[in-house]
Amino acid sequence: PRPGSSPALQAWVEDIDRQARTKLGMGRVADYIPALADQDPERFGLAICTNDGQLYTAGDAEIPFSIQSLSKVLLLSLALRRHGDALWRRVGLNPSGMPFNSLMQLETEHGKPRNPFINAGAIVVADHLVGAFATPSKHLQDVARTLSGNAGLLIDRQVLASEWRHRSRNAAAAYLMKAFGNLDNEVDEVLNAYFACCALRMSCADLAVTLNYLAADGHAMTTGDRFVPPAMAQRINALMFTSGMYDAAGDFAYRVGLPAKSGVGGGIVAIVPGRFSVCAWSPALDERGNSVAAQYALELLADDLGRWSGTLP
Ligand code: GLU
Repeated sequence: PRPGSSPALQAWVEDIDRQARTKLGMGRVADYIPALADQDPERFGLAICTNDGQLYTAGDAEIPFSIQSLSKVLLLSLALRRHGDALWRRVGLNPSGMPFNSLMQLETEHGKPRNPFINAGAIVVADHLVGAFATPSKHLQDVARTLSGNAGLLIDRQVLASEWRHRSRNAAAAYLMKAFGNLDNEVDEVLNAYFACCALRMSCADLAVTLNYLAADGHAMTTGDRFVPPAMAQRINALMFTSGMYDAAGDFAYRVGLPAKSGVGGGIVAIVPGRFSVCAWSPALDERGNSVAAQYALELLADDLGRWSGTLP
């Protein structure tokens, strides 16, 4: 992508950045692992990647952060590319209405997670990739490097070690699924792959470019190839719309109305199908795990979308 050429759109992105920063005092940085607790809550970044290859950025859009659950979108895309609809025998398609790390439904629903965006669901998806690639997290890192065009992307070893040390809850989910026969590989191996994907560091600009294929019928911005078929992009967007924002997916759909995925690192990626992908980031989260300032930025953006119908590609 090239730097955006419309001064009006650039001014819009900067205006959203300015308004979103009024929310910076609100919310709390994730502290379930020490390695995330020291993030600077004063950061805010915004990046828009239009389907015709323009990148508009504001604030801390170039600063890499821990992508955490945003990796679940890439994991799902890779598993669907490889296994297609067979994946849905092992993981469901419905919102869970429960916190992302809840174990309750796993027991009553015989080890089949509600959807691929709760932790248990992403662990099943990671299990597929452990079966398919010698080093799944390296594969995901390579894919992210190719799709973003940023060869310097790295897995944060400190975050990975911290996730591992504090893995009890994710390990409990994995063992429960293993007991129900819904995990093929060894629990430790699958968890390690899952954590390494969560620990990838990317910036708003990297993420907007990487996930632009969801706005562009599956076409990857940097390679020009089809990364996923159009119907698959549509289905991933549908899942993001219903389950991408933890147990606030309904509220977010009502307020913003776009497919989106959130991560506890404070990043949120949203998709305007046919037009652009956007990533907003700020580390402080509300009680449901979604970044306060990033949600607000996406609300402002969605409210204004009609204004740009003639300008945006
Ligand atoms: N690594 C985090 C966990 O498994 C991901 C949480 C998230 O971003 O939702 O707890």
